[in-house]
Amino acid sequence: MSAPTAAADQSLCAPLPVLGSDVTVPLVTGGDVTYAALDYAASAPALKRVWDDVAAYAPYYGSVHRGAGYLSQLSTDLFENSRATVAEFLGCRADDQVVFTRSTTDSLNLLAAVLPAGCQVFVFETEHHASLLPWRDARVTCLDAPRTPEQAVATLERALAGREPHGPALVCVTGASNVTGELWPVRELAAAAHAHGARIVLDAAQLAPHHPVDIAELDVDWVAFSGHKLYAPFGSGVLAGRADWLREAEPYLAGGGASRQVTRRADGGVDVQWHTTAARHEAGSPNVIGVYSIASACRALTEAGFADLVAREQALVARVRAGLAEVPEVKVLSLFGDDAPRVGVISFVVEGWNSSHFAAALSAEYGIGVRDGLFCAHPLVRTLLGSEPQEPGECGAPEAAPGERSLNAVRVSFGAGT
Ligand code: PLP
Repeated sequence: MSAPTAAADQSLCAPLPVLGSDVTVPLVTGGDVTYAALDYAASAPALKRVWDDVAAYAPYYGSVHRGAGYLSQLSTDLFENSRATVAEFLGCRADDQVVFTRSTTDSLNLLAAVLPAGCQVFVFETEHHASLLPWRDARVTCLDAPRTPEQAVATLERALAGREPHGPALVCVTGASNVTGELWPVRELAAAAHAHGARIVLDAAQLAPHHPVDIAELDVDWVAFSGHKLYAPFGSGVLAGRADWLREAEPYLAGGGASRQVTRRADGGVDVQWHTTAARHEAGSPNVIGVYSIASACRALTEAGFADLVAREQALVARVRAGLAEVPEVKVLSLFGDDAPRVGVISFVVEGWNSSHFAAALSAEYGIGVRDGLFCAHPLVRTLLGSEPQEPGECGAPEAAPGERSLNAVRVSFGAGT
């Protein structure tokens, strides 16, 4: 099979008969492949505008913060301007920091590494593993899956009311589920956290590509997201928010770029003064192209306007859900019910089908690429399917025998460009 060429460009979108002739999806074409990639929740195709920006810059990149030469100066400017673009995209407050990381997972692990001593962490069992697992050195309270947004707020209120007062506490919550696509009541959860003296970090990996995320307006303390889900290439992510915990903790990585001054002590040891800016947690040569591509995606989304994107996506959500509703064997997974607002992420099971086989058939017979499995949210998917943990199969997801109730699900997801 020859290498396909990615084409999230609108002009290359085409109708796909199985979805109906008026629905266009981004196709990947080339060689003997014509393929509809409906797996945006995993990684969204980069916008053409982003590829163009990166291609225009690629011949000129140089080291960041380290050189007197023209290319180094240019790259440093682009890198720091990208920080300002991301801050603006997220509506950051004046004293917030924007730290560039590798991904949402990296961002949340960074935050976990800077938690003050004795910090209690509250997280719903419904979270993606990137939000559920990084808090290994903290005292973690894992909250039951709520069945309504109001129940989510009430559950958090109850848990926070029962916590030891005065100590530091952090709530970690997703903005949009990577399994059901459902929107979480972020503003209300933030208000509950703050009312009980806790802070809150928003996992916006699935929210930011579909909705404006305004850190000040939502009144969250930090936001984390990934470039490769925001229509930029792989390898870069963001943690933005309150500077104090970031400034006070040891650097996430130790090395050049994070240090302001390093001196040799008389006793043979080494003393370091670390930066107090975002650079403190960005040791080493940064991924300048990845960072630049995130900023390019932020600009493209802002210029396109979220209102149009949301309207288009919601029409597609309605269309896909209506199509699925016509098939009696299909059960769409939902925590908050059919009417809950959601982004373009829809998971389902098909009675009588092993989800992995179903997804493979969609790919092989219809050229539609979707994801199957437990979507790195094992507790949530098990709650939704009413299943118990099983011995994982080769790919992590448990295998159901043909005809048995599915132990995993199929996910179709889309976004800008669809
Ligand atoms: N949070 C959510 C809600 C996600 O859907 C994902 C990825 O699917 C992540 C976090 C982790 O993102 P990344 O793999 O880019 O670190």
